[in-house]
Amino acid sequence: MKDLGLGNTVKTTCAYCGVGCGVLATISPAGEVTVKGDPEHPANYGRLCSKGSALADTLSSIGRLVSPEIGGVKTDWDTALELVAKRFQKTIAEHGPDSVAFYVSGQLLTEDYYVANKLMKGFIGSANIDTNSRLCMASSVAGHRRAFGTDTVPGNYEDLEQADLVVLTGSNLAWCHPVIYQRLLAAKTTNPAMKVVNIDPRRTATSDIADLHLQIEVGADVTLFNRLLLAIVDSGHVDHDYVAAHVNGFDAAVEAARNEARADLGISDADLQAFIDLWTGTEKVVTVYSQGVNQSSSGSDKVNAIINCHLATGRIGHAGMGPFSVTGQPNAMGGREVGGLANMLACHLDLENADHREAVQDFWHAPAMPDQAGLKAVEMFDAVADGRIKAIWIMCTNPVVSMPEADKVRTALEDCDFVVVSDMYGDTDTALTADVLLPATGWSEKDGTVTNSDRTISRQRRFLAPVGQAKHDWDIISEVGRRMGWERAFAYTAPEDIFREYAALSSLGGKFGKDFDISAWDIGYDCMTPTRWGKERYFGNGGFYHADGRAKMLPVQYTAPKSAPTDAFPLRMNSGRVRDHWHTMTRTGQAARLSQHLAEPFIEIHPATAERLGIKPAHLVEVTSPHGKAIVRALITDRVRRREVFVPIHWTGQYSSAGRVDALVTGYTDPVSGQPESKATCVDAQPFAAD
Ligand code: SF4
Repeated sequence: MKDLGLGNTVKTTCAYCGVGCGVLATISPAGEVTVKGDPEHPANYGRLCSKGSALADTLSSIGRLVSPEIGGVKTDWDTALELVAKRFQKTIAEHGPDSVAFYVSGQLLTEDYYVANKLMKGFIGSANIDTNSRLCMASSVAGHRRAFGTDTVPGNYEDLEQADLVVLTGSNLAWCHPVIYQRLLAAKTTNPAMKVVNIDPRRTATSDIADLHLQIEVGADVTLFNRLLLAIVDSGHVDHDYVAAHVNGFDAAVEAARNEARADLGISDADLQAFIDLWTGTEKVVTVYSQGVNQSSSGSDKVNAIINCHLATGRIGHAGMGPFSVTGQPNAMGGREVGGLANMLACHLDLENADHREAVQDFWHAPAMPDQAGLKAVEMFDAVADGRIKAIWIMCTNPVVSMPEADKVRTALEDCDFVVVSDMYGDTDTALTADVLLPATGWSEKDGTVTNSDRTISRQRRFLAPVGQAKHDWDIISEVGRRMGWERAFAYTAPEDIFREYAALSSLGGKFGKDFDISAWDIGYDCMTPTRWGKERYFGNGGFYHADGRAKMLPVQYTAPKSAPTDAFPLRMNSGRVRDHWHTMTRTGQAARLSQHLAEPFIEIHPATAERLGIKPAHLVEVTSPHGKAIVRALITDRVRRREVFVPIHWTGQYSSAGRVDALVTGYTDPVSGQPESKATCVDAQPFAAD
């Protein structure tokens, strides 16, 4: 592998969100790194948002873990890896393969994900590998699989530019996927006839672009799209030819919509009718959805309610038409594609399908394959808490901050027999609970691939030497696999070895009728340009992946959020990102300019609610839920409704002893997807009184 020489420029991909922008990184003769958007990359065509533009400010070695540590004492790699391998082997021998778990991350590269998944599912013989992407897009995966037969995104970014109506639901695109928002804004400027509808209980920066903002009740999405489905039927906008040729379940879905018990959406009849008129009267419609839909105890049903409307009208798989889920993390999609969820195998194959399982097991020459789904994220940490999981390896993520009921997660990890954390940073809230810390390389230091929201596979490329003794995640995992006795299966020497194996495995997809075969791509790993995969569209002419080749419309109805307001906890707390920070701020917290926009955790609270509770502007507020508390700054605004508040997710024990919002969030999950209900926790808010 060659290091980038001074004065050269390397093409890589942004470390942050699921837009997956191409980045040109240059090291000046003086050794300074600068970044700019790659004008040739099909996700961003040269654009970058505030976070991407500040990537060069986040390359400091401050806080970096520079050598392995055992019990807080520095050690060498050989000792640390031997201990990890032996402790996992001993735990498995004494308690079985399901007594261990890997918790991984949408920040990992595809090659890292692939090797972790192979080690756990094929060789350890457990499906207890799940990912923080479970918190982000599992409901979309479940909705896609129920409707299409696979987790396939039907469209691409260009559809947003080619549509005449873009519906943004549960998506603050302006802050969370800023470059796609910029592309949409430019398209709307070019095409003044384009309309944008924003569906969100909260008024956000994204609402600024909207011709219509529907400030619906929290959780009312299924009702809204059922009302739309009925309007499509009653106004004669069903594409009967498409439905007859390609769709099952139409009658049952319509009947469920007709029998929908919930009537109140929290919006006026006029606004509802305006939405229906726009949707039914516009052929080229894209419905974009994100965490506001996914992070719900009925997130899968919300996804299917949206997809139902597109299937009923045949508005899918053609230019400017389709349901479109945008992923949160840089490689959430890559993780999905290599089976990084507890219920999946690589290449969109199903763990619980015996034929798929056997094919992957044969391909890997694997000694053992689980035949049931493993523990999903919330279940996994519950199992750590009650002692079923006795050894866990957490890779590249910070669940002590980001998991629901985060205080419980911290206690569970502190009490767990054996916790391994591999990460760039040694001072995260999660790293502080580790028995063994393994220093990992990060963006700028590692090579591999990532897949963005529209399925474009891009390269991340190394242009700096690793800090200290940091190793690549795929290398660390492979070393442990070899030390556990599987030398041939994990004999990788470079990420391209792994990518080529994964590409070869993907040819199995065709064997099962799933159009996921990247093995035939005429690409060299080193010169891979992201031009193929993301541009394709699916299902315009049917060809779904259920056994009969047809899609399914699902009968879905409103179900209330599982967290219900009480006298003690009367306010519903929404949570989400701010424009300039990313996840738990391990990287963006280093760039001073990224804290100029919003410098500390806050609570958006309606003026009438603040007055009733005696909360003054910019004063501190104590927010409590049944699970924990956080102290944040009051931001009094009518962007939120009276009985709702909003708190950002990023601040951690490192940056504010009191801002860990996920300590408050309920661990309720969607029964289909296992995704937590992160946007509907019921809380109380009171002026903070220091003791
Ligand atoms: Fe990076 Fe996302 Fe911003 Fe693009 S939009 S520069 S991928 S954070």
